[in-house]
Amino acid sequence: MSDHIRYKGRFIKKKVLDKKIKIKNALQKKRKGNDLSTNSSEPNLYEGNRVVNLKFLGEKLKCVKCFEVLCLNNIVHEQHLGLNSILKVKCEKCDTLSIVPTSKTHSTAGNKSKHCDINTGVVLGAVHAGYGCSGLNKILACANIPTISPQLFKRYEREVGPAIEKAAKESCKRAAKEERQLVNENIDKLCDLL
Ligand SMILES: [Zn+2]
Repeated sequence: MSDHIRYKGRFIKKKVLDKKIKIKNALQKKRKGNDLSTNSSEPNLYEGNRVVNLKFLGEKLKCVKCFEVLCLNNIVHEQHLGLNSILKVKCEKCDTLSIVPTSKTHSTAGNKSKHCDINTGVVLGAVHAGYGCSGLNKILACANIPTISPQLFKRYEREVGPAIEKAAKESCKRAAKEERQLVNENIDKLCDLL
């Protein structure tokens, strides 16, 4: 029992306690870091290019309070969710802040959170073209468009994966059917020759 110490009314090994404290400190440090990033007074720089749904953005650029049309010059903050931007825009008339997304969202099977149309589109395109997250991000970075994090890419990959698999299976079935047809036709020709 010499290496055991009392902790919260129980005896535990010193080694185990040290590990627990280390994990607790690391988590606290991480939480502090997150708080700093969300409470930062520095506004995000909304520079570069964005891929937006023009019609949708036009409809959403209205003050939630007085319905005045909002101006993109009055963006005070931008949050990136992959290629979708969540903008905070100040109304010139009543100073109210309105939340304006740049992409439509949709529900996905088995996923409680909604997915952005633009992210589903680019991830589907990347997978279809044989690119992974880093390949897609190289294209986006060159076009000066916000990149997509590997975690977000994976989440969207899980959504588009079954659709790609289904399309691949149907393509295989079609190819097998065509091959069968060709064989049948050639057999008929051979029979005619004999
Ligand atoms: Zn207003």
